[in-house]
Order: sequence, then structure tokens, then C-alpha cells
Amino acid sequence: MSLNILFHSAPHRWADYRTVLPDALAAAGVDARLSTDLPPEEADYIVYAPAEDRLDLSRCGRLKAVLSLWAGIEGIADDVPREIPLTRMVDEGLTAGMVEYVTGHVLRHHLGMDAHIVNPDHEWRPVPPPLAADRKVTILGLGALGTACGRALAGLGFAVSGWSRSPKEIDGIRCHSADDGLATALDGAEIVVLLLPLTADTECVLDGPALGRLADGAVVINPGRGGLVDDDALLAALETGQVGHATLDTFRVEPLPQDHPYWSHPRVTVTPHVASETRPASASRVIAENVRRAEAGEPLLHVVDRSAGY
Ligand code: NDP
Repeated sequence: MSLNILFHSAPHRWADYRTVLPDALAAAGVDARLSTDLPPEEADYIVYAPAEDRLDLSRCGRLKAVLSLWAGIEGIADDVPREIPLTRMVDEGLTAGMVEYVTGHVLRHHLGMDAHIVNPDHEWRPVPPPLAADRKVTILGLGALGTACGRALAGLGFAVSGWSRSPKEIDGIRCHSADDGLATALDGAEIVVLLLPLTADTECVLDGPALGRLADGAVVINPGRGGLVDDDALLAALETGQVGHATLDTFRVEPLPQDHPYWSHPRVTVTPHVASETRPASASRVIAENVRRAEAGEPLLHVVDRSAGY
């Protein structure tokens, strides 16, 4: 009997997946009926990336797994009963995009490019930037995305430190872990990149005291989640010069409200949650592989730890 897979997301996203996902399922040897209007009660699997239209999954007796198209699942985890496995997206395309975003923004600040791009008085300022080896970059979160970004930056020569919940050893990255590692990771950092999930433990991780540990004039880059940053503390640190610039891609409320002080702050760059995006072709292979694994009784990839919240 063929499987029923419900694809539940915005119509534009279905347009991106309607060909590549069936192809990936076929390539993985999965015989499935893929539909956008199947009742959830009849679904074996749900590919889930809802807009406003959240599903009630409490009575889905056949449901074997919910497969998120997103890496960050804090907005949808409550929709999925705890006994149903929920997987998050780790996708090579998403990772590559994040590496490009983070590398680009780190290099912008490292090289001091703004002084040359915005130079209305045509001032000749021959101040060469330091070498990357003399620039301390700290990445909070050493998961799929943080590790890839850290490796890329270390490959360019930056002095990279990182912080995660569990201890790690990663070539080229000075790794710190747990609560007591945060201060060490932040001490003297000139550029800090946030790639943590938003959980009860990480909410406002970059608060006043944490910002106070950074080097004077440090740069904050946040493609993680808006809630990781204490916004008032960041604005205060921008005023004192403790933070020289913030490049923010994620916000507590999105789209960022027009009257939010970040929009008009001269030393804040707002990007509209575009740091990286799940790529349909590679993400479809991950979804198909997980359905294949579930049907074969093999462990699923990228299962969310419901008690940790990511
Ligand atoms: P992962 O789950 O692979 O990595 C998360 C990392 O954060 C892990 O290293 C984990 O530690 C660490 N972490 C979690 N909780 C804590 C804690 N309490 N203290 C210290 N470290 C902690 O996630 P990804 O790398 O795939 O994605 C990271 C985030 O990036 C996503 O959750 C999402 O919010 C954001 N994102 C943003 C996008 C954008 O376009 N702006 C696109 C995609 C993702 P450990 O390794 O020990 O588990």
C-alpha cells in the first residue's frame, strides 16, 4: 500500500517542491501519494512549514513523523504531539547559504568596507585592516550552521572560538561549552555571530553582561533568532560604543515594525530574514531519506530533542 504524505505549507513553497519532492521520493525508492489537501488524519507523514494555517495534529492516528522544512522549529514544535517524531531541516543548500551570509558580513566589518563605500567627503584614509589571524570571531552555536561557518572563517585565517551546549572538538575552532564557557567564548571577541536555536535556555543570551565582555566597538551578527538578543541592552551598547555595529537578520517580531529603532539606527544593518533559505532540491533529498528510513525502521536524521527544544 502506498504511503500518504501531506505537504502543508504556503502555495508558493508547493510550487517549488511539486516536482523535486516526488523525484527525490522516487529516487529513494519511496512509493507515496503526495498531496497538499489530504486530511491530516489520513497522512503517514507531514512535510510541515505552515504560514498562519497551523494544523491540529492531536488526532492523527496514522502519523509516523512530521518533517519540518525549517532548521528552527521553535514556532511549530507545540503543534506536534510529543510521541510523534519531529525532524528539523539540515540541508546542504541551507548551510551553504548561511556560510556565504556570515562570511560576507564578517568580511565587511573585518575589512572596514563601510568607510570606503559610504565616503561622501572623498576622504583618503589609508588605514589597512588587520589580518584575519588578528581578528577574534566568536560563534555562539556550533551545530550544523555554526560549525560550517566557523570552519569557513577559520579557513580564511580568522581566530575563531565557539560555544555549544555539549563539549566539542572542531579543527580550527577553539570550542567552549555549557554556561561557564560562555564568558570565555565572549571575552574580547571583536565579531560575534549568533547561530543558536531559540529555547528557554538561550533566550536573551546576548544580554548586557554578555555584551560587556566583547571588545570595545565589537560587531554583532545575528542570523539566529531575534529572541537571542536583549534588544534594549544592544541599543544601549550601541549608544556607548561598546558595540560598533549590529547586523541583524532575525527579530522578535517579523517583519520588523516600521517604528522599531533598529531601522533608523546608523550603526544597525537590518536584513529581512534572508540569511539563508532551505533549498528545495537538496531539502527534498533529506525528506525522502527520512521517509525511507522510517519505513525501513532505521533511525531518522535530525530528530528534535523535545526536552532540549531544538
Ligand atoms: P543545530 O541544532 O544544528 O545547532 C544548534 C547549536 O546551538 C548546537 O551547537 C547546540 O549545542 C547549541 N546550543 C543549543 N542550546 C544551547 C545552550 N543552551 N547553550 C549553548 N549552546 C546551545 O542548529 P543549526 O545550526 O541547524 O541552526 C541554528 C539556528 O539558526 C536555527 O535554530 C535557526 O534559529 C537559525 N536559522 C536561521 C536562518 C536564517 O535565515 N536567518 C536559517 C536557518 C536557521 P550542541 O551542539 O551541544 O547541541
